[in-house]
Amino acid sequence: MDCDLVIVGGGGAGLRAALAATLADPGLDIVLVSKVVPMRSHTVAAEGGAAAVLRDDDSFAQHFDDTVSGGEWLCDQRAVEAFVAACPQELIQLERWGCPWSRQDDGRVQTRFFGGMRVQRTWFAADRTGFHMLHTLFQTSLRHPSIRRHDEFFCTDLLVDEHGLAGVLGVDIARGTPVLYRARAAVLATGGAGRVYAHNTNAGIVTGEGMALAAVHGVALRDLEFVQWHPTALPGSGILITEGCRGEGGLLLNAEGRRYLQDYDLGPPDPWPRPRAMELGPRDRLSQAFWHEDRARRTVTTPQGSAVLLDLRHLGAERLAERLPMISEVARRFLGIDPVTTPIPVRPAVHYTMGGVATGLDGATALPGLFAAGECASTGIHGANRLGSNSLAELLVFGRAAGEAAAAWSRNAPSAAGGSLLREAQARAGQAYALLAEGHQAGRPRVAELRTAMHAAMEDGVGIFRDAEGMQRACQALAELRARYRAGVALDDRSRSFNTEWLAAIELGHALQVAETIAHAALARRESRGAHRRRDAWSARDDANFLVHSLAYCDPQAAPRIEHVPVTLTRSAPGERSYGGAGARVALD
Ligand SMILES: Cc1cc2nc3c(=O)[nH]c(=O)nc-3n(C[C@H](O)[C@H](O)[C@H](O)COP(=O)(O)OP(=O)(O)OC[C@H]3O[C@@H](n4cnc5c(N)ncnc54)[C@H](O)[C@@H]3O)c2cc1C
Repeated sequence: MDCDLVIVGGGGAGLRAALAATLADPGLDIVLVSKVVPMRSHTVAAEGGAAAVLRDDDSFAQHFDDTVSGGEWLCDQRAVEAFVAACPQELIQLERWGCPWSRQDDGRVQTRFFGGMRVQRTWFAADRTGFHMLHTLFQTSLRHPSIRRHDEFFCTDLLVDEHGLAGVLGVDIARGTPVLYRARAAVLATGGAGRVYAHNTNAGIVTGEGMALAAVHGVALRDLEFVQWHPTALPGSGILITEGCRGEGGLLLNAEGRRYLQDYDLGPPDPWPRPRAMELGPRDRLSQAFWHEDRARRTVTTPQGSAVLLDLRHLGAERLAERLPMISEVARRFLGIDPVTTPIPVRPAVHYTMGGVATGLDGATALPGLFAAGECASTGIHGANRLGSNSLAELLVFGRAAGEAAAAWSRNAPSAAGGSLLREAQARAGQAYALLAEGHQAGRPRVAELRTAMHAAMEDGVGIFRDAEGMQRACQALAELRARYRAGVALDDRSRSFNTEWLAAIELGHALQVAETIAHAALARRESRGAHRRRDAWSARDDANFLVHSLAYCDPQAAPRIEHVPVTLTRSAPGERSYGGAGARVALD
């Protein structure tokens, strides 16, 4: 199929990129490919809100400072400057397309506190922000016939020639037939990789596809060692209980009923004009504090493991119904408890990949014609720890930038090659089909077996706290798993139509690539910063040697190669993060 631009991913970033491309050039023929119907993308699950400077007591400088200090100065400051300045216009644009932001009584947009943000900066639509944002983008995309949707098409590979990107390979999931999208420009918007861990808040489809697709063709993955644990997910299922709960005033209590965060050093004394952060501290520190409480046996025991208690009772039935209706429903449906009368048991779970495909501010990667945006990409704005609600804004700001840049690129690119490309496509597609053809051979491991072993290796060696021995163990285990995967996996289902076992096998190959990269990038960072916290000789931050991004170059046959490059600083010299730990007794490392 010939087209001008392929967008891989129908989540917030993919839809925003498609809209930007068609608005920039209505004549472009755009194909939006998604392995699920766009409204099932993980963006739909986002709850708490999207950040943008709105209030009089806020400023771009404060949004910049919160983001950069929250990311422990590993943020690319040029990218953060561009980001904070573009957020408000993007959220206003979404409003014009129909997004029902929650309102104050006088009609102005309502905002709430979020972790690590000094002022109320998070716009929300009750606690279904992602749902409303995705609906808004999706319904707007329907107005543009030049965006052709290929729902339930699964991308398996990229095609590259001497000019750069030449096409994208996929499978029509309903029919099982291969598809070649011949185009000179593509935007990867495939989301994060939380599913490489066992306990996570992510949808089952969030398996790191785009990162692996780009990495296989030599594009660097940046800062993958920084994996965010969200401090409040349900034990067992990992269903997220939004930070918005704490933004609305929710408290975290240990088994003794104590607001235990007052005991932890979340940072030096708070210069902010409000009480110290506690529950509204950043996610990395809150997750680390849970780990300590658990070790000290001050957590409660649930059938799905230990937990602390999120107490919302004092907010009252009316406020819970207005501001946190989905959370109230989740607690009732999945736990059988009513948060009006009973605290919710919560624990940390993997939530977000701070790193991703290395891109510039326009989403361009090192491969000409290949762009990336959203959670699969890394412009460098999150540094070592993303602040909640910066991601939904990022999808819009950088989804738009990537869409516009890809549109411009495709207008000027040489036309795609003919026969040789088709032969190359057939050869590469053959690899996915070989898996299907050979999958019935006896003695091979099943997808679930390898996936469970990958989860165990990641939870064991590359968790909330890390040490050299554990990370080495993980690297070793993942290398073995990848070798076993390459030798072939067993598939029972040999049909072509909706063969989810086969697709899960392809996803597993990509996830293993990403998991191994996370482990190696983590091992190579001999310091502690943000979400990467070591409990060995490198438990301190080391600006002299590690104020650097990691760049991982993947090799299909060997371990990833890790390089380090300096971080771009513009206005903020590295300092201490302050979240108001005055009087705290327990250090977090
Ligand atoms: C439970 C939860 C709550 C969150 N709440 C917030 C919040 O309140 N505020 C905030 O800022 N952030 C939040 N986040 C983070 C934020 O929602 C995500 O970072 C963001 O939505 C990712 O959007 P995306 O467009 O990059 O990817 P996604 O929305 O994950 O979409 C990925 C798309 O790629 C497609 N795809 C993937 N692989 C392939 C393939 N091989 N072939 C074809 N298609 C493919 C999928 O079908 C999908 O359409 C939350 C995340 C979670 C998990």
